[in-house]
Amino acid sequence: MSARRGAVERRIVRSLGVSLLATTAFLGACRQAPAPSYDLVIANGRVMDPASGLDAVRHIGIRGGTIETVSEAPLHGARVIDAANHVVAPGFIDLHEHGQQEESYRMMVRDGVTSAFELEVGTADVAGWYKAHEGGQIVNYGVAVGHIPARMTVLGDPGKGLLPAGIGGTGSATEAQMAEMEAILRKGIAEGAVAMGFGSAYTPGAPMSEIERMFRVSAGGGTSAHIHMRDGMTGLDETLHAAANAKTALHIVHVNSVAGDDLAEFLARIQRARDAGQDVTTEAYPYGAGMTEIQSALFDDWRTWPEERFAQHQLVSTGERLTRQTFEKARQTGGTVIIHGRSEEQTRAAIVSPLSMIASDGFIENGRGHPRTSGTFAKVLGRYVRDEHVVPLMDALRRMSVEPARRLERRTPQMARKGRLAPGADADVTVFDPARVIDRATYEDASIPSAGIPYVIVNGQVVVESGEVTAARPGKAVRAPH
Ligand SMILES: [Zn+2]
Repeated sequence: MSARRGAVERRIVRSLGVSLLATTAFLGACRQAPAPSYDLVIANGRVMDPASGLDAVRHIGIRGGTIETVSEAPLHGARVIDAANHVVAPGFIDLHEHGQQEESYRMMVRDGVTSAFELEVGTADVAGWYKAHEGGQIVNYGVAVGHIPARMTVLGDPGKGLLPAGIGGTGSATEAQMAEMEAILRKGIAEGAVAMGFGSAYTPGAPMSEIERMFRVSAGGGTSAHIHMRDGMTGLDETLHAAANAKTALHIVHVNSVAGDDLAEFLARIQRARDAGQDVTTEAYPYGAGMTEIQSALFDDWRTWPEERFAQHQLVSTGERLTRQTFEKARQTGGTVIIHGRSEEQTRAAIVSPLSMIASDGFIENGRGHPRTSGTFAKVLGRYVRDEHVVPLMDALRRMSVEPARRLERRTPQMARKGRLAPGADADVTVFDPARVIDRATYEDASIPSAGIPYVIVNGQVVVESGEVTAARPGKAVRAPH
């Protein structure tokens, strides 16, 4: 790894030397103004832009935070990164990330992510959320206004984490309480939320009529409704139906986990809805285990479980597999749990589908979390694109960059400048070695960064250099007009 880095650096120095000589000779001969110089040039890379289909060796000239040119001819820059033998891609856009703080951003950016969104749970206080992130982050960031936190607030849920631990999930809402929820969601839209989040799986007390009512608020605000839905195939039909009635755009999160054993039919129904004109999209993460809070309503039936089911649950704080006794104890004290159980075939099928955007559903805190926080994008590129040849590289990049940008750009026009490598686009760029890119985080240690991604640029600034996070904090708020 270090020898390789050394070679890359030597090439950079060499190309700088050559371009300086060339400039001097040119000026001496012609006495004309010098060629335009860029703040940053990414030279000699295999530039892959899924929006245009461009796949060729090009030189990218960046000035300020913007891509100014994608050139066949070499460019001069104050700084030149030699990307020979590397792929230069639009920075990855993660629509589903709960760890919206420095520790998570540090892991995600080394996985190639340049924009991180919390759109499933979201927040009940959009303005406060953006205020708390001001002052520069490693990556760009944005949030949804969420039905889950709105419901927790209105019903007075005792949970202290992201998810309901009681009445906010299982209780039913009165007419007045539903009107209060609507008011919170409308306020979030007015404050620039980029989407609206839902988790019917976490709010079993909310009938589909309540979800549909909140979908109407989403439709009114022009947001897409991002939902962690319940009840598998039945839930899918009900959710599609409710979204169609309410006329909201719909995004079903982590199809790999909510579809269960019915993945093929689940995806086929989404495709049929799309073919019939419904605006519905989905996403997946490339891991066989999920993760959630142990006090959530997902586990309300735990007393009926057979003994062996407890061992599929791994406590994040200690890494231990649980028993009936330790599960009960953890359920009382609270915490995060990893749920093992899906087959590799299920995971692969979800990732292979051209319908699935890639999104991590990540979270990490004090070094403990799910490896998907740190390895989702590199795992898709290394394992499923390179090693197993089951996803074409350009298609994987499409589902990591321009597709998630398109999901948000109608509501948030800023996103039309992201997920593309073209003049005028925001200079969010990921440079990776297609021969080496791979995830390294594990269920035991989620804090191991991905490998083979030497450079990441956010808004024209280098945030990952030789695989390490720099001191730059150029990440900006992505927020709908408000
Ligand atoms: Zn999630």
